[in-house]
Amino acid sequence: MTQVFNFSSGPAVLPADVLKQAQQELCDWQGLGTSVMEISHRSKEFIHVAEEAEKDFRDLLNIPSNYKVLFCHGGGRGQFAGVPLNLLGDKTTADYVDAGYWAASAVKEAKKYCIPHVIDAKITVDGLRAVKPMSEWQLSNNAAYLHYCPNETIDGIAIDETPAFANDVVVTADFSSTILSREIDVSRFGVIYAGAQKNIGPAGLTLVIVREDLLGKAHVACPSILDYSVLNENDSMFNTPPTFAWYLSGLVFKWLKKQGGVAAMEKVNQQKSELLYGVIDHSDFYRNDVAKSNRSRMNIPFQLADSELDKLFLEESFAAGLHALKGHRVVGGMRASIYNAMPLAGVQALTDFMVDFERRHG
Ligand code: PMP
Repeated sequence: MTQVFNFSSGPAVLPADVLKQAQQELCDWQGLGTSVMEISHRSKEFIHVAEEAEKDFRDLLNIPSNYKVLFCHGGGRGQFAGVPLNLLGDKTTADYVDAGYWAASAVKEAKKYCIPHVIDAKITVDGLRAVKPMSEWQLSNNAAYLHYCPNETIDGIAIDETPAFANDVVVTADFSSTILSREIDVSRFGVIYAGAQKNIGPAGLTLVIVREDLLGKAHVACPSILDYSVLNENDSMFNTPPTFAWYLSGLVFKWLKKQGGVAAMEKVNQQKSELLYGVIDHSDFYRNDVAKSNRSRMNIPFQLADSELDKLFLEESFAAGLHALKGHRVVGGMRASIYNAMPLAGVQALTDFMVDFERRHG
């Protein structure tokens, strides 16, 4: 059978070793004669899983002790509401940087709770899509917080700068498609959140990292399951958490540590993305229209010069074991999502296929 490499944007590829381990212990987990899915989230066995996962996640991102880690429901979109509901306090506005589809979606949700001040950061440099540098973001002076999305999964745009705003600016960020892919300085942020289904584990789990002084300000109407203080006081078990996703994410964290942690992943991610962008840039047959300074290392959209060939490209790539390369419906073309669990060999197989496809059809 052809080896399959899955380039899905999420839910996405998981490390093969992790899946094998989960398979081996599925029906009889830790000698209990049941699966981990079937035991109480309050059992000592599961609490151990939960605590280990949090510890490993904290180690991987070097999370300072004045930050809480919450294991939540509701995905990235849940946090589009969670952030304003928890952080607005008595303020009526927040700064929202718009550099792509997901940042704009966060604005739409925030409008239910405040009057967002939108900073349009989309620019064009030499005909390529780019983002205004952070130093040019015009923050308002009465905002409860600043929100941005460091990796736009659909647009293939990344903002890799480390925020260096005044200390009283509460920076919140949607790391759904880039968490754990590169080193970050958590202390620069008030809130970091990420849906698990791209770089962490299965769908259903959302990680929130929140600075502890920001707790206790939730709106009275904030649903308890989105209230950071309630979640924190209950060790993320105010209601039944997605236990299997939590367990599996814990296995991914252990796998990441074995690979050498986030610094090691960052190196491989750089190699993988350079390989793919290299093939795109060295050809007139493929095109990516994002400026180099803002190119995502996780989600790489590319177009064929002749879009008539899109269908054939997708059919042939699928047959070659290269799955889920169809671009998002709003941008068309192709997209390769190459999260941590995508091995270099997968990107090599994709680029070999692309070179061969161009030779045959270019
Ligand atoms: N933010 C980003 C950057 C995303 O890529 C996505 C999902 N593709 C979301 C938010 C929405 O996440 P969810 O489906 O978990 O609500």
